[in-house]
Amino acid sequence: MVLEMFNHWVFGNTSFAKHEEYDEFRYKLLLVLTLSGAVCTALFVLGEYFRLNRIETLHFYSMQVFTVGAMVLWWVLRGHKQWFVPLAWAYEILCLLEYTSSLWFVPGDELRLMWFFVNVPGVFLMLGNRVGWSVVALTIGILLVSNAFMPSPYSQNAMVTATLSLLYLGMFFHAFGARSVSFFQRMRDYNQQLEALASHDTLTGVLNTRAYYQECERLVAMARRNVQPFAVLFVDLDHFKKVNDTHGHAAGDAVLRSMAKCMGSTIRRTDVLGRIGGEEFSVFLPNTSRVGAVRLAESLRTTLEHCMPDIGNQRLKVTASIGVAVCDGQVQEMAVIQQRADEAMYVAKALGRNRVSVFEDLPEAPEARAAP
Ligand code: GH3
Ligand code: MG
Ligand code: MG
Repeated sequence: MVLEMFNHWVFGNTSFAKHEEYDEFRYKLLLVLTLSGAVCTALFVLGEYFRLNRIETLHFYSMQVFTVGAMVLWWVLRGHKQWFVPLAWAYEILCLLEYTSSLWFVPGDELRLMWFFVNVPGVFLMLGNRVGWSVVALTIGILLVSNAFMPSPYSQNAMVTATLSLLYLGMFFHAFGARSVSFFQRMRDYNQQLEALASHDTLTGVLNTRAYYQECERLVAMARRNVQPFAVLFVDLDHFKKVNDTHGHAAGDAVLRSMAKCMGSTIRRTDVLGRIGGEEFSVFLPNTSRVGAVRLAESLRTTLEHCMPDIGNQRLKVTASIGVAVCDGQVQEMAVIQQRADEAMYVAKALGRNRVSVFEDLPEAPEARAAP
């Protein structure tokens, strides 16, 4: 609970899509660096304030500027992930100025060089290898030039050590950064593949039962919120058993694939198609009234009739019976609408197949019963 509150305080509630995992990592890294940078420097400032750790006057001011600057960057970034790159650059410039100030104005601190080193990993990880190497080069330049003018310079040996270890650090984080990027990308690709596998029917490529109903539930909720009608079509291929018995199971599979493809090319982009049984499909039509649903069902029936799947040596005429259920007015549960479409489809079968039947037109439908 406390940890959750702390996380919320540090990172805010900016959200990232699943495929933006690496961006989220870089964004959070910058939040951590700006905040911890501000806190570390604030501790130095307090040390000077309470006379615990004396710092040269000019650097004392630059530390206060850094503390406030880093806090502002952290605060602004918390709500604006889209400003990540300019804010990361701003923080990097602020850091280099601060470390250079410490180099010039705090000669009593032999270890002040260290700050330039701890700066390198973050740059590689947040801004990439090109910027990382530019900062390494700039750091070496700052060290060499500053050392030539400092009243008590580092030894030549120390400068060589600093230069070589900066290059070593650069190489390490170049490799590490490149590896993390490719790792995150691979994880993202694998996740997308797994999601596609888990939500799609392997034979036809359309949504499987679970994913189809999940999507329908989402669309029904939206229809409820926007007070919009919707319709469901239940499509069952006619005499499909005969296709299998006559031409074999493999031919049956090929027919299913072709029929699904024909259906996919007939429905609108906003409609959802799913395979909910062996040779049974369902189509959810958002924001569609009775007239539109019947028109689409009829055009789907004609398309399927003319689809003529190719089963190797011949093309087969396969038809479908389609049940339609419409929900305009009071929005019902998805299961109820699906059940009605199912009932209407059985009526279409009973009437001779290769036809469309609408639940609301059935004699026992609630609407029909309510009619005078
Ligand atoms: P109706 O017109 O009354 O719907 O008759 P039908 O033969 O289509 O209906 P029935 O339910 O009797 O048979 C459905 C057949 O669909 C039986 C089954 O072998 C076949 N089937 C189900 N899933 C698959 C599949 O994945 N591949 C193939 N090739 N056939 C399948
Ligand atoms: Mg069936
Ligand atoms: Mg059938």
